Amino acid sequence: MHFHIMTLFPEMVLDGLHTSIIGRAVEKGCISVEAVNIRDYTRDKHKKVDDYTYGGGAGMLMQAQPVYDCWKALEEKIAVRKEDSQGNKKTRVVYVTPQGEVFTQRKAAELSREEDLIFLCGHYEGIDERVLEEIVTDYISIGDYVLTGGELPAMVMVDAISRLVPGVLSNGESAQTESHADGLLEYPQYSRPEVWHDKKVPDVLLSGHHANIEKWRLEQSLERTRERRPEMYEAYITAHPPKPPKNRRRQERN
Ligand code: SAM
Repeated sequence: MHFHIMTLFPEMVLDGLHTSIIGRAVEKGCISVEAVNIRDYTRDKHKKVDDYTYGGGAGMLMQAQPVYDCWKALEEKIAVRKEDSQGNKKTRVVYVTPQGEVFTQRKAAELSREEDLIFLCGHYEGIDERVLEEIVTDYISIGDYVLTGGELPAMVMVDAISRLVPGVLSNGESAQTESHADGLLEYPQYSRPEVWHDKKVPDVLLSGHHANIEKWRLEQSLERTRERRPEMYEAYITAHPPKPPKNRRRQERN
């Protein structure tokens, strides 16, 4: 999977994403991450990329021209590579914005099936609406608050999506059992030592009885989700109604 990030601060994005698990995934070749500097595409002789907003109001706005030219160059480069592999399907362009739909694990899973993804990071007051209309396919937010720029949101999304790309997590680190993978929060976890600050690891986890461990983990996941995320719990219970006990099912059949 190839991530292409359009930004005014490429070093910020690359420094953040070339460390730890995602950095290793880049080294292994499971994913690639490039950050393209929008400023390199401005036709302004002073390298300006922003200007005042029409109608007045606070702050500066990123102009359409550098963003459009940057996208065009990127799209052409991707098209050349794709011609060898999967034809000329248009690459999705995600504008990270507090005005978008809120990013979820489900969205991460959907985006992880793309071959290429372009992220567009805004700054200042945002970006001229006209270029957004022309190039953006998805408007996605990381939450209902406003940050100074789109670099952190793009990094958040690249990280969450990359974890779902085959080969990025090693066998020992599975995304399958984690919070949000199946609509529940993950169960509590413990490591050595068995007793710490007079708190003992639950006996069932030391029992080696896999069926009991699985049962305990599901119960804990349900309880934790009910306590911390009641709306998520309700949705899960609606989709997975608890089965009635066996003898009641027999009575119902008779
Ligand atoms: N004026 C814009 C508004 O009110 O919707 C906010 C602009 S914000 C200061 C600058 C840039 O940061 C945005 O263009 C966007 O790319 C990014 N950004 C800020 N908050 C974000 C969020 N919650 N999710 C995704 N991107 C965000």
